[in-house]
Amino acid sequence: MTRTESTGAATPAQSPLPADASSFAHLPLPPTMQATLQQLGYLSMTPIQAASLPLSLAGRDLIAQAKTGSGKTAAFTLPLLANLNPRRFAVQALVLCPTRELADQVTQEIRRLARSEDNIKTLTLCGGAPIRNQLASLAHGAHIVVGTPGRILDHLSRDTLSLDALNTLVLDEADRMLDMGFAEDIAQVVQACPKNRQTLLFSATYPDGVASLAGRFMRDPQEVKLTERHAAGKIRQRFYEVNESERLHAVGQLLNHFRPGSTLAFCNTKQQCRDLVAVLQSQGIAALELHGDLDQRERDQVLVQFSNRSCSVLVATDVAARGLDIAQLEAVINVDITPDAEVHVHRVGRTGRADEEGWAFSLASMEDMGRVGRIEQLQGSPSVWHPLSELTDKPGAEPLHPPMVTLQILGGRKEKIRPGDVLGALTKDLGFAGSLIGKINVNEFSTYVAVDRSVADQALRGLNAGKVKGKSVKVRRL
Ligand code: ADP
Ligand code: MG
Repeated sequence: MTRTESTGAATPAQSPLPADASSFAHLPLPPTMQATLQQLGYLSMTPIQAASLPLSLAGRDLIAQAKTGSGKTAAFTLPLLANLNPRRFAVQALVLCPTRELADQVTQEIRRLARSEDNIKTLTLCGGAPIRNQLASLAHGAHIVVGTPGRILDHLSRDTLSLDALNTLVLDEADRMLDMGFAEDIAQVVQACPKNRQTLLFSATYPDGVASLAGRFMRDPQEVKLTERHAAGKIRQRFYEVNESERLHAVGQLLNHFRPGSTLAFCNTKQQCRDLVAVLQSQGIAALELHGDLDQRERDQVLVQFSNRSCSVLVATDVAARGLDIAQLEAVINVDITPDAEVHVHRVGRTGRADEEGWAFSLASMEDMGRVGRIEQLQGSPSVWHPLSELTDKPGAEPLHPPMVTLQILGGRKEKIRPGDVLGALTKDLGFAGSLIGKINVNEFSTYVAVDRSVADQALRGLNAGKVKGKSVKVRRL
């Protein structure tokens, strides 16, 4: 195996590449694709793209590891599209993902990148959605299928999906698929793929299981690993010493002192997540828990509320939070110190994306000091300690409120509702300023719209009394 290692956030002086080497223009991509990248605002490659695309576009099998949010989806989508013949109506690429949510994110990114070719069809096949609708879509033909291993296997055994024409197989979030027990399902799906193909494996971490999975069916894979190093100054890390009885309360103190707009709080166990949410909610802080026992609809609702800024704190374990593409995270709180120093670096790297600054706070008890020592070793720098007593609740200050409120409209894609319909109802019909309306998410059966907290009740009454797309709708506040 050949190994290429480079540093995620290398300073220009250390960078092994010349100044403009990260431009997409150097890649063997058709002009239409170059234009699409420009339109999407992808002006330069992310480090994992720069390290992997020259190899994958040359047809090599690839094992690529880089942290969440580093642009892995485009890193496999470009080679997958390069291998594709739009005039051939057969499934030529398959992307396996651990969850429906990730499959949906991947499908969206593929569609965006494929938009200059208007006849490329991408289909999502995941559990939880009715098989019957999927059969109809499959019958119409698709070039690219994105799905979860279980449901793909289901279609293969019913003979409703053929992979005979496949030339690219992608395993996305391979580490998480293994965590979720998909190893055997994946092996069976691979059995149904032609031997002559390109296989691309992407993962946020690289545990042994992923290496042995790769060894089973990859062809002399190139290994591209981006060791994480955060740009100094962008993420401000602080440690606070706590005893166990202070730990959960300290989270509220941090939030009220620094007042970040959106925070991801990591706990080591589900029980700790539940306890923290209860404590925060009792303090009037809008916190929600993301955990494996939520059904898909509940999970969607939690993520929608967090991403549209109507929930201040998302509380999660590492497994539950893995792979989520969450922008605009102002703070990460390590409520518990993780025993795995690499996981710590990964958690902290969720904030301070792009050019934004971020906070990373860690709460450590005396018993955690061994773990903190390993983190310091991995990061190559001593941790910065601050006393809890320095966190002051400004007297009379409002509790931390998120700026937006989410309204749920019962009705979604099934009713052919589009974001513009909802925006129109609120601005044209009800007269709200556009600046008061936030993100609009249209799901299959529901639509979620974020509205400014100050007009939430008015908007709720207005929508319930008025019409969306010419029909009266039922709306509730989440
Ligand atoms: P990962 O799979 O590594 O977690 P994603 O593929 O979800 O990361 O990408 C994270 C975000 O970065 C997405 O919103 C994507 O649209 C954006 N992105 C990817 N590549 C680029 C690029 N070269 N320039 C700008 N934005 C990019
Ligand atoms: Mg991804």
